[in-house]
Amino acid sequence: MSKLAEQYTDLDKLRHSCAHVLAQAVKRKYPTAKLGIGPPVEDGFFYDLHLPESLTEADLEEIEKEMEKIVKADYPFEKKMVSPAEARKIFKEKNETFKLEMIDQLEGSEDISVVVDGDFTDLCKYPHAHSTGLIKAFKLTSIAGAYWRGIETNPVMQRVYGTAFSSKKELDEFLRLREEAKKRDHRKIGKELDFFSIQEDGGPGLIFYHPKGAYLRHLIEQFVKEEHLKRGYDFVMGPQILKSDIWVRSGHFSYYKENMFVFKTEDEKEYAIKPMNCPGHMLIYRTQMRSYRNLPLRFFEMGNVCRNEKSGVLHGLLRVRNFTQDDAHIFCLPEQLEAEIESVVDFVFFVLDTFGFKEREIEISTRPENSIGTDNDWKRATDALQNALKNKKIEYQVCEGEGAFYGPKIDIKIKDALGRSWQCSTIQCDFALPERFDLEYTGADGAKHRPVMLHRAILGSVERFMGTLLEHYAGALPLWLSPVQISLIPVAQTHEVYTQEVLEILRASGFRAEIQVSTDTLGARIRRAQTEKIPYMIVLGDKEIQAKKIAVRSRSLGDQGQMALSDFVLKAQEEIKTRR
Ligand SMILES: [Zn+2]
Ligand SMILES: [Zn+2]
Repeated sequence: MSKLAEQYTDLDKLRHSCAHVLAQAVKRKYPTAKLGIGPPVEDGFFYDLHLPESLTEADLEEIEKEMEKIVKADYPFEKKMVSPAEARKIFKEKNETFKLEMIDQLEGSEDISVVVDGDFTDLCKYPHAHSTGLIKAFKLTSIAGAYWRGIETNPVMQRVYGTAFSSKKELDEFLRLREEAKKRDHRKIGKELDFFSIQEDGGPGLIFYHPKGAYLRHLIEQFVKEEHLKRGYDFVMGPQILKSDIWVRSGHFSYYKENMFVFKTEDEKEYAIKPMNCPGHMLIYRTQMRSYRNLPLRFFEMGNVCRNEKSGVLHGLLRVRNFTQDDAHIFCLPEQLEAEIESVVDFVFFVLDTFGFKEREIEISTRPENSIGTDNDWKRATDALQNALKNKKIEYQVCEGEGAFYGPKIDIKIKDALGRSWQCSTIQCDFALPERFDLEYTGADGAKHRPVMLHRAILGSVERFMGTLLEHYAGALPLWLSPVQISLIPVAQTHEVYTQEVLEILRASGFRAEIQVSTDTLGARIRRAQTEKIPYMIVLGDKEIQAKKIAVRSRSLGDQGQMALSDFVLKAQEEIKTRR
């Protein structure tokens, strides 16, 4: 997983150098500490250390102080090539057993590189900054446990994470975004807004949607389903379980079985819960002889799937064991492929724009070494994917050789308000499944042909997409997606009749509104509506009743003053229509 030395950017070199400084500081404070490895990672670096005691947050602060001294001393990083015997001698003296193990594994290679800065020597072949003084800004961020080399029978190391930058300004901005990300954590927001829960009693990685969360899902699904109908997709639904024979035929058992929930019925027949919707759609396609005049066929399903993910990788709504895909399979003629991909790309962009994700990263993954299909198949499909993007003047990156074994694909990542990337849509060509399920159509020539097939999902997993939405908007969803759009607050009990009248008009106008009755102080009720991130608050008291008006407070714009109810209705309806 770690980067090759030649792939290190200047920032990687700086961060990796900071990892050395971290290990150096730890050795000064804990001379019996043993060193593991310290690579740069996406947002910084880590160093795996074996220590007699568990480090605490307070210890990290002390270590940082020691690191400051090392940075100030401005030690140059000096790389030396030594013989394996010499390397072994150096690290044996220091009782660095993990390093000795690494040297043993390098056996047979010629010289081994060691890196020295000041009083510290490390075994390391990677590039570094010129000297410790170039580390202008750093911070140790967290501690986690990690098995040495990721092997469960090995000792547990303490993995200290940190980050470094070439200026304090960049570090401060990084730490600010990190704090903001913590506040926006969808697990926290989901709890605050009472949208969903995950209950260990019910099983890890399983989502319980509470009324408001279930309503948000309904809104997302309703929008997506309607848009599919507008674009000529047909709704289909496959069963939740299928006999194992089908999973053997689809190939899932040979490469995915360990991620599937498999069980036997009374008559000893083996079944599995679907981890993907594809086989069901293949079986529906096969129920009739299709003609070239029927194609393209676009089968769509909000398909609920189960995957036996390892408990260690489960994470809120982002990685779960039971989720729903907005999944479609498109069967078409070879000459229709490019136009189909183009219309899927349009569709994807329309949906992502509507949900407020205007920034995207697009990747095309091409043929890997071990793959099926002819050169011609791959060329045609890869060209179709590239042309679809080129025709629309969409920029993309090519990931050479990273396609699935069964075909090339486009992956679309979305960027959220904090600039973080999230895996979202995918468009994949598949040469395998039409073959495995012997799918055919009758061509214009009267002969049987194999249709070309695309898998595609726009939101990907609805669960993950919801999590992304919650973090992107920090829970303050746009009006059209808010489970409760308007909170009506009567100042006192005497204003409740008027409030009820307003509620009825709003509901009849299609809004989701609720009254916060006066069991609590006015201030407390306003605060509650704010914490629940309800887009509009309407406060009703004597003044409003006399003027036959309403007092409106917008979540984003603050106090809007008094206005006629009919004016508010028109304004808010427009906001919903334009999905702002
Ligand atoms: Zn190094
Ligand atoms: Zn599929």
